[in-house]
Amino acid sequence: MAKRDYYEILGVAKNAGEDEIKKAYRKLAIKYHPDKNPDDKGAEEKFKEAAEAYEVLSNPEKRQRYDQFGHAGVGGASGNGGGGFGGGGMNMDDIFSQFGDIFGGGFGGGFGGGGGGRRVNRGSNLRIKVKLNLNEIAHGIEKKLKVTKHVSCNTCKGSGAKNGNYDTCRVCSGTGVQTRVQQTILGAMKTQTTCSACHGEGKIIKDKCNTCHGDGIVRGEEVIAVNIPAGVAEGMQLSMSGKGNAAPRGGMNGDLLILIEEEEHPELKREGNNLIYHLFISFPDAALGTQVEIPTIDGKVKIKIDPGTQGGKMLRLKGKGIPEINGYGKGDLLVDVNIYTPANLSADERNMMENLKASKNFQPNLNKKEKSFFDRMKEYFE
Ligand SMILES: [Zn+2]
Ligand SMILES: [Zn+2]
Repeated sequence: MAKRDYYEILGVAKNAGEDEIKKAYRKLAIKYHPDKNPDDKGAEEKFKEAAEAYEVLSNPEKRQRYDQFGHAGVGGASGNGGGGFGGGGMNMDDIFSQFGDIFGGGFGGGFGGGGGGRRVNRGSNLRIKVKLNLNEIAHGIEKKLKVTKHVSCNTCKGSGAKNGNYDTCRVCSGTGVQTRVQQTILGAMKTQTTCSACHGEGKIIKDKCNTCHGDGIVRGEEVIAVNIPAGVAEGMQLSMSGKGNAAPRGGMNGDLLILIEEEEHPELKREGNNLIYHLFISFPDAALGTQVEIPTIDGKVKIKIDPGTQGGKMLRLKGKGIPEINGYGKGDLLVDVNIYTPANLSADERNMMENLKASKNFQPNLNKKEKSFFDRMKEYFE
């Protein structure tokens, strides 16, 4: 199913400000909240959809990538399928952990359930560079990348506790927050802060795991299959949600950010989605016409050079360029025709040239348009 536009989901304009986006999301989150719509699959889908849209549009970096590259830029790569960018969006835990910034501390309690004030640890994002050649860029590719990162500790299953033993924090009774009541001129005001005893985790480890020393994470390696859509470009960043570093003691994983680097092609230059090839032909070939082989992304092809071809002519091979990242259309291959002029002529060759030069037919014959241009220039300078 094609993904809906994030702005459309939230019902805001493309240039909507931060506050407007937050407000729009808050409304939808309340309307479609699972607590209010039990056993309503449609509402749950809408709830998730809105959360995903907000997740991207509330983050300036992600929003910019989305504006520029659409869903493909933020991990929604469509059409490429496979185990790639977490296209499925967010799970409920992710969504509830996001509520902290939206509704402030008070919200979680109000709705109960997953919200809560307990802090969810989040692993850091992992950045890697991927170098691609033009062929890979033109067709898209699945790369298996071996990354070194924080992974969940096997010994303690990521809990950080030996034998899984930990105590519920006594200071906050496991909620991760401390509530204080302050008297103000407006009456009693409740404020919530992160519990200082457990740092918001709600639990205290009794015996730390020997392998990870209580962190719940260790250095490890993972091979990650990354589906890179066709049409990416140097400097573009893709993200795979949840494929970054694992979080201490069983929180949410960070994201994997993949920075695209482009290998230079020995013969073809990329200009946007077009490719340019500088072709050199001999003067006799330009005059008589010929067939030449030129390189393309998919190997050599033969093209015809018409008799009387001028240097500077640009031939266009439609659709032989790089596809648009959004999947619509393709660039062209432009062949820039140059005439090769030999240096160091032999005596015989010099003779032939002198003869050719004498022929009036070999003098440049300016067409009407050029003439009128030169006439105008003449007027200008006189
Ligand atoms: Zn606590
Ligand atoms: Zn451990």
